[in-house]
Amino acid sequence: MSNKYKILVVEDEHNISSLIGALLEADGYQVISASDCANGKMLFFSHRPDLILLDMGLPDADGITLLGEVRKASFIPVIVISARTDEADKVEALDHGANDYVTKPFSSAELLARIRSALRTAAFHSDNGIYDGVFVSDGFLIDYDARRVFVDGTEVKLTQTEYNIIAFLSRHPGKVLTYSAIIKEIWGYSDSGSVKKLQVNMANIRKKLGARPGKKNYIVNELGIGYRMCERSEPVSDKTAATSHSTVAK
Ligand code: CA
Repeated sequence: MSNKYKILVVEDEHNISSLIGALLEADGYQVISASDCANGKMLFFSHRPDLILLDMGLPDADGITLLGEVRKASFIPVIVISARTDEADKVEALDHGANDYVTKPFSSAELLARIRSALRTAAFHSDNGIYDGVFVSDGFLIDYDARRVFVDGTEVKLTQTEYNIIAFLSRHPGKVLTYSAIIKEIWGYSDSGSVKKLQVNMANIRKKLGARPGKKNYIVNELGIGYRMCERSEPVSDKTAATSHSTVAK
């Protein structure tokens, strides 16, 4: 089986790189691999992949460096592979334009789900265009001109701030937006109470949108990092459920 997508894997640990390569090829992806930033950059420009899996700790430079080079040239999805559990590193990668991240060890099911989601989001951007006045996703609709939000045809009454947060998230579907990125966009400044203020607004938004375990969930909370608007609704327990599958990288 084969699909049209080409994935560039930039990872210096040979075992992990070959495991990921085998996993992706078994799922029908074309795979090209690099083990450092310089080679990754060369392959990116010569092969024009559809998605990059990028390790953060590389021998010649930090993965952030390559991410910066890629972002100067392209908006293709970049999923960061991080061995670090330190949230600051994930936040840095997301703020530098990464779409998503997985933390080692991750399961094969989780990695494949993240890749599918990132590729769907990219296709969503190019096929539909989200700046045409409305955002539509699986029963969820935002009318940007009227500043109104609907779930399954029923209007959801939001405050100005709540609407602004939803509209901002919806312009980056599938991407994790960090607390600081959202705060900067919505309030223009941050102080010691900003994260709490955002969390309170978000709790109200999620309640108004009807988020319940196992039900449609349009906005996912990435604990300690930020929030992600799903381009399709997904079960609340999506991420945790995936981790019970076999582990491919340690
Ligand atoms: Ca590494």
